[in-house]
Amino acid sequence: SSVDWSGDRVLVKTNQGNYSGDRLIITLPLGVLKRGDVSFSPAMPAPKRAAIQALGMGVLNKCYLRFAKVFWPAEIDWLEHIPSRRGEWNEWVSFKRAANLPILLGFNAADRGREIESLSDQAIVSSAMQTLRKIFGSQIPDPVDYQISRWASDPFARGSYSFNALGSTPNMRDDLAETLDEMLYFAGEATEREHFSTTHGAYLSGLRVADEIMA
Ligand SMILES: Cc1cc2nc3c(=O)[nH]c(=O)nc-3n(C[C@H](O)[C@H](O)[C@H](O)COP(=O)(O)OP(=O)(O)OC[C@H]3O[C@@H](n4cnc5c(N)ncnc54)[C@H](O)[C@@H]3O)c2cc1C
Repeated sequence: SSVDWSGDRVLVKTNQGNYSGDRLIITLPLGVLKRGDVSFSPAMPAPKRAAIQALGMGVLNKCYLRFAKVFWPAEIDWLEHIPSRRGEWNEWVSFKRAANLPILLGFNAADRGREIESLSDQAIVSSAMQTLRKIFGSQIPDPVDYQISRWASDPFARGSYSFNALGSTPNMRDDLAETLDEMLYFAGEATEREHFSTTHGAYLSGLRVADEIMA
């Protein structure tokens, strides 16, 4: 896709058709902006490009495992585990108390989260079960179903949510949010200086841009 903001009206070309308007609100995830999957003509100014480059897009992947019945302590919601590989299955959530379901959700974060995306579903489930068997013993059953996310490989996400990478500054969030020529407006969680990484941050950024346009 491409955004042409060289004229009086902004033109957007996509594989679903072309659009034009007086203004464009861009809520692309930081990961998508980083990859340059959407081109801008003219190029965005240097501070915005620097912010896109320096701010980090993190990865947190989920693997839901459904079992025939609960074999873990039913009264516990969060299970913490110290893995030998950083970020690997270090946190689990039980859906027993919240939803009365025999489901455990395991997380892989950061580098390990990125790494597992190239593994097959079977390899991911088997790695999860190795960890659970370390915690609960070898006799626990295999899951009857699973659901796995791969946020870094998702072309419409390219990561889970932004973080302050080493070398980035809070001002870069403002640079990312900066409106260009009263034509290109930027919203989305990564543009929120205080509440980045969150749903409410994304929501607040939408309100900010709406206020700016209505003013
Ligand atoms: C595993 C995980 C757990 C999380 N947990 C929490 C939590 O507990 N609490 C919390 O507050 N937040 C949490 N978040 C973060 C929260 O989900 C995000 O911060 C929020 O959804 C970001 O909203 P957004 O509108 O900025 O981006 P998104 O919701 O990612 O919206 C971006 C939109 O752009 C579209 N898009 C992308 N590329 C293109 C393209 N090339 N062309 C056209 N459209 C495109 C996408 O399809 C999408 O609709 C979590 C996120 C993840 C992944």
